[in-house]
Amino acid sequence: MIDLRSDTVTLPDEAMRRAIYEAELGDDVYGEDPSVNRLEELAADMVGKEAAMLVPSGTMGNQVAVLTHTSPGTEVIMEADSHIYYYEAAAASVFAGIQPRPLQGHRGSLPADLVEWAIRQDDIHLPPTSLICLENTHNRAGGTVIPLEDMKAVHEVAVKYDLPVHLDGARIFNASVASGVPVREFTACVSSVQFCLSKGLGAPVGSIIAGSRPFIDDARRWRKRLGGGMRQAGIIAAAGILALETMVDRLAEDHANARLLAEGLAALKGIEFNPEDVDTNIVIVRPTSMSVDRLGSELEKRGVLTVVIEPDRVRFTTSKEVNRNDIEKTIKTVQEVLAGN
Ligand SMILES: *Cc1c(COP(=O)(O)O)cnc(C)c1O
Repeated sequence: MIDLRSDTVTLPDEAMRRAIYEAELGDDVYGEDPSVNRLEELAADMVGKEAAMLVPSGTMGNQVAVLTHTSPGTEVIMEADSHIYYYEAAAASVFAGIQPRPLQGHRGSLPADLVEWAIRQDDIHLPPTSLICLENTHNRAGGTVIPLEDMKAVHEVAVKYDLPVHLDGARIFNASVASGVPVREFTACVSSVQFCLSKGLGAPVGSIIAGSRPFIDDARRWRKRLGGGMRQAGIIAAAGILALETMVDRLAEDHANARLLAEGLAALKGIEFNPEDVDTNIVIVRPTSMSVDRLGSELEKRGVLTVVIEPDRVRFTTSKEVNRNDIEKTIKTVQEVLAGN
């Protein structure tokens, strides 16, 4: 099978499995797991924040951030197709008791003037704005890189209104590798960031949230409340350290494979999308001659796995589990399916 459903399907390689086996361990709820402590220091340094914390998933990372920054009855500005709004089962409403304020972005990016317009006035009829959320790369927009200038502009608005900004940076390293902008420049625009170790970076489990030391101190209590305090979590952290030390640069291969796929698919009749929209490792296309379900199931029969993300759109995601050869086969297979062979 050529698995293009997500970069979450990546498996730990041999070096990572060895690091897991050899990990030095302690009880992380007591703060005594040396591997977790090393990972958190390394991660904080890489994103230029004072402190960082390991969480089991990106969703928990985002939710801990929302819980830490906000209080119930306030409003959180977020992009209408963002993961926090779309894919977290309304967790921010259920747990944090916030009201989401979804705004339509452009290629996933929220214009600063739109954000400013959405910030609430002081009026008893209105929920106070408590947080602005950004996402980079933007998943549902197609792995698009949010330009640094856009993030800086939102940051300026946030400073003006004294509001925190949380970055869902599940794939912030993809954004950095694709754009050449250091991760720290993106994260300098935000108060907190979440990123995934378990996607393109190839670790089996885990995400990081990072921010100021007082923010992470509060976040630790929220993680504990949610049941995310883990004991000998060095088992996970050992893989995360290797992911950060050895897997960041190779994301460029995933991007090159996605570009190859985009160019191949764009040349086919019966597929519509703009290959210029492909910035990183995600390719989203619209079949015009058959339904998405039919395309997905015919591809699956022929050994290519994709996901349907909209009634008219199919997503292909590259990762270290697929190589150039797999991409060439995928293009040929899509061509065969569209031709009805
Ligand atoms: C995958 C993803 C997450 C959540 O990560 P999980 O570990 O699957 O909970 C959050 N945000 C974005 C943009 C993602 O792509």
